[in-house]
Amino acid sequence: MIHFSLLADASTRIERALKYVEISKDAMTRLQAPKASVTVSIPLRLDDGSLQLFKGYRVRYDDTRGPGKGGIRYHPHVSIDEVESLAFWMTFKCALLNLPYGGAKGGITVEAKTLSRSELERLSRGYISAIADFIGPDVDILAPDMYTNATIMGWMMDQYSIIQRRITPSVVTGKPISMGGSQGRETATSVGAFQVINTLLEKFDQSPQKTTVAVQGFGNVGAMLAQLLSQVGYRVVAISDSQGGIYASQGLDIPSIRRYKMSSRNLQAVYCESSVCNIVEHEVITNADLLALDVDVLIPAALENQITADNAQQIQAKYIFEVANGPVTSQADQILEQKGIYVFPDILVNAGGVTVSYFEWVQNRSGLYWTGEEVNQRLKERITVETEKTWSIAQEFGVSMRTAAYIHALRRLGEAMDAKGTGA
Ligand code: GLU
Repeated sequence: MIHFSLLADASTRIERALKYVEISKDAMTRLQAPKASVTVSIPLRLDDGSLQLFKGYRVRYDDTRGPGKGGIRYHPHVSIDEVESLAFWMTFKCALLNLPYGGAKGGITVEAKTLSRSELERLSRGYISAIADFIGPDVDILAPDMYTNATIMGWMMDQYSIIQRRITPSVVTGKPISMGGSQGRETATSVGAFQVINTLLEKFDQSPQKTTVAVQGFGNVGAMLAQLLSQVGYRVVAISDSQGGIYASQGLDIPSIRRYKMSSRNLQAVYCESSVCNIVEHEVITNADLLALDVDVLIPAALENQITADNAQQIQAKYIFEVANGPVTSQADQILEQKGIYVFPDILVNAGGVTVSYFEWVQNRSGLYWTGEEVNQRLKERITVETEKTWSIAQEFGVSMRTAAYIHALRRLGEAMDAKGTGA
């Protein structure tokens, strides 16, 4: 089997942008590999008394523009290659949104669903104890990602504070509101994506009422986004989770499905047991079916590597908005471009989360807290400005939105790197 390196694939995006950016050779050399990373073993005492060892990672890809920033993922497939590429994307995402951060990411290789709540807490605290010297409010700031949430962020912040012997809320964002979290952080990725989708579809005169949508991934982000879209008239015809999905040509009742989903983990099962199942004509579909549906908008909001050279030919959607990190490979990008499909990149579309993380960090450091309206207003403004700038770069050079986003981010990164000089 040929080893597919996510990081190598992610780096090809820079190559395409390079033609259009004046960036020094020194800066490019620095960007070839992560600045620092740690791999740790976390011993966890299970409830049954036995001891199990878990692998954890934290990678700081670059910190020229500010401290490292990025989430923590809990997933059985978490590997150093995945964490490095996610940290790489964070570097470009933060530069694109002009946040004063570099990029970082972390994770634990674990099937979190199999742990009890107290095991999960011990594992999360164990992870922080293991990486405490590697992170900090001015060094590297954590946040949620797949299968981590506000509760886990609260434990992590508390553990770090215990180690430091001072309350340190700004080392972690995405915390519970009661522990210094920000209003609007939980919904920020969806709200940001919603804003980007509306701003860009308007340019194609694609109004919500005449737009069908399929969403792959019905977690916190995908489900909330599907709801926001359906509320303003988009017809969300298909959704899925890791087990599979459902399709109804007349559109799905997203708020009800979200309520059912909360009571169980399997979307299809919950849907089929519900009363809606009998009244709405629908089909049970696989994730592969969902990706190939004849819809206007396709939103991959689950894992990376979903649209590859193997299935890109089957894609029928006109617009793809990457809400997940890295769902389309660089080879698939080329096939989709030939087919005339517009791909809007992750580092722009899902940047709402880290943008409100930044707002949370600012609030923690100033001690002054904002209302939900204020947070959402600031998010909307910032993400719209950068979407418009990216759009005009794409028009100016006649390149894809992905390449435009990398051009935009690379200019900021390169400038900072050259200003800093060689450094240590
Ligand atoms: N995990 C999110 C992302 O991939 C948020 C990161 C953060 O808030 O730092 O963008």
